[in-house]
Amino acid sequence: MSDIYLEVNLHNLYYNLSKIKEQLSNDTMIMAVVKGNAYGHGSVEIAKALSGDVNYFGVGLLDEGVELRKNGLELPIFLMGPTEEFDIVYENNITMSICSLNQLRKLIDWTENNKKTIKFHLKVETGMNRFGIDYDQLEEVKSLCEKATCAILEGVYSHFATTYKNNRSYVLGQKEKFDKYITFFNQHYNGLIYHICNSENTIDYKEAHYNMVRLGNALYGPCNSKKRIGLKKIADIRAKIIYSKSIKAGEHIGYGNSYKSKQDKTIGIVPMGFYCGMGLIKKPIGSKFGSVIIYYLKEIYRYLFRNKTVIFYKGKPLEILGRPNMQYTIVDITGLDDPDEIMVEIKISPIFVKENIKRTYISEVKS
Ligand SMILES: *Cc1c(COP(=O)(O)O)cnc(C)c1O
Repeated sequence: MSDIYLEVNLHNLYYNLSKIKEQLSNDTMIMAVVKGNAYGHGSVEIAKALSGDVNYFGVGLLDEGVELRKNGLELPIFLMGPTEEFDIVYENNITMSICSLNQLRKLIDWTENNKKTIKFHLKVETGMNRFGIDYDQLEEVKSLCEKATCAILEGVYSHFATTYKNNRSYVLGQKEKFDKYITFFNQHYNGLIYHICNSENTIDYKEAHYNMVRLGNALYGPCNSKKRIGLKKIADIRAKIIYSKSIKAGEHIGYGNSYKSKQDKTIGIVPMGFYCGMGLIKKPIGSKFGSVIIYYLKEIYRYLFRNKTVIFYKGKPLEILGRPNMQYTIVDITGLDDPDEIMVEIKISPIFVKENIKRTYISEVKS
């Protein structure tokens, strides 16, 4: 077994999906969002695990979709980000997202010139102000689509910029705008797929489910919804203490003399450092006075009331000694039984865990 790996528990993944499904009507479709290597959990394996239970996979980059096809996944794949590589989209049977008139014209030109069919969903602007077509461009969209024979409009979607929990009225406002778009499309098209919900709003805001919901972080663990539905974290890093030694009171540990020991100790080395995601600290970006103050208040709160460590042995926290290094972190293992056999758990988000750390998959029931 390798000294360090990310253990993904597929049983918990299925559990989370079933908990979310309890919130949905039977005919609501599910897009499992597996962008960013399935939020660090391994997109191919997560997609394989889910392929019997969802309707769509959502990816952010074209390469991510190609990767799924290369690995034999056959469900529809929706590319949420923009691309103009229509040949790759076509060859891999990927459903595109179109978010501007310009992009729509290019898609139509390409499909007509090549006599090849590509399906797309139109991204409409409701308040996120990232990608999206505006309401006053719809007539133009319609006349372009009417001329197109190979670019097939399959759905219309938007994206919530915030959650029902954090800013209910903004979310309601976005839904209201989305409904206006839907009214327009319903006058001219039948059977389009409408979707706007991400994880949190899927759980908290049933009225916005429409035909499909797009689930990302709720599949992978507890999310920031108002309603708690008992989601479970699905991954932990497990690492072996690869080296241990005794040190005397008064000795320094690590770079920059960042830690000085007050007692005799046994220390252990965990083979994970900041290169692989350990000890990344969030810093406030920008200089808005209020947000900087809030950041430091949170840090003080964390320092006083929360455990600073993220490394655990049999559920008990181990103190991190000094600062994490590039590839190692030193912990206090004084008093633990057999230093050669210690496996620790590291609790950090898999998103930050470098791809070179192996992902392993189990489907055991664990609490
Ligand atoms: C990432 C993403 C999602 C999933 O969001 P979660 O909050 O993780 O559920 C849904 N839709 C779009 C367009 C996204 O980019």
